Amino acid sequence: MDLGIDWFNARWKIDDKPKRKKVSDTVKNHVMKQQHYECFVCHKELPARKHFHHIIPVSKGGDNLPENIIAVCSNCHDMITHQMQLDEQSNKDTKKTEPKNVWNTPPGELFR
Ligand SMILES: [Zn+2]
Repeated sequence: MDLGIDWFNARWKIDDKPKRKKVSDTVKNHVMKQQHYECFVCHKELPARKHFHHIIPVSKGGDNLPENIIAVCSNCHDMITHQMQLDEQSNKDTKKTEPKNVWNTPPGELFR
């Protein structure tokens, strides 16, 4: 029956999506130990409220493995997140923006 197969495929697709799983304590401890309990970016002692950052985002197939995770302080985590957003934005921009054709562009629009 077709209905059954569709249902199965739908279920499979949902299950196949990368999920945002929590980083396990074992992995967190391993990562912190490797970094000598210092922030990966600024090398200050990790504060009580530390952040665990995925080098490859989970949404892009990154895993909760120690190789893909760094422990950072909240300041540095904000910085990384901000930088990643900027990068993503500039990637979008470079794809969208085409070089202006000087000869076809009215002089007033060239310097906008
Ligand atoms: Zn830091």
